[in-house]
Amino acid sequence: MESHLKQLFPAEEIHLAVHRLAAEIRRDYAGKTPLLIGILKGSFIFLADLIKALKAPVEIDFIRAASYGSGTASSGNIRITKDIDAGIENRDIIVVEDIVDTGLTLNVILKHLTARNPASLKLCALVDKPHRRQLPIKIDYLGFHAKENFLVGYGLDYNEKYRYLPGLYVME
Ligand code: 5GP
Repeated sequence: MESHLKQLFPAEEIHLAVHRLAAEIRRDYAGKTPLLIGILKGSFIFLADLIKALKAPVEIDFIRAASYGSGTASSGNIRITKDIDAGIENRDIIVVEDIVDTGLTLNVILKHLTARNPASLKLCALVDKPHRRQLPIKIDYLGFHAKENFLVGYGLDYNEKYRYLPGLYVME
């Protein structure tokens, strides 16, 4: 393990949080087949674990947004670079995001999806960093709060590194 990474949430804690979220979603969507839309790339492991823990019928799709510029800060100039494949009119949608940070990306994605008239639209996020928020975002299902700045592991990268780590780590 690299010395500049400090473990914040070990794999066991993430496992418990994912199962708690799955139980909440299963309860709220009993008898329905929601469409879970993962935001690429960071949410892919979270989405996979979540649907396995759900043990209920769901469908999945993916969307991707990019902000111009690079580094660890969102530049705020966001465009959708990969859209969902299917229509979502009258569908129950759960957007699955890894981290809600400034909220700028989700603001664009949620508006984009709302414009297509889903029956319902909720948000499930693994981590909320509320102190960084620039736009209000309502998170319906939340794993963890974090005040640390930049997290990696469990699907989350820094320049494509560290996605494979089973826990969540803070870069120091
Ligand atoms: P936003 O600032 O628009 O809320 O977040 C934009 C994207 O930046 C998120 O979808 C998330 O993938 C990524 N992001 C935000 N905070 C972190 C972080 O601490 N670590 C990593 N690896 N990505 C983050």
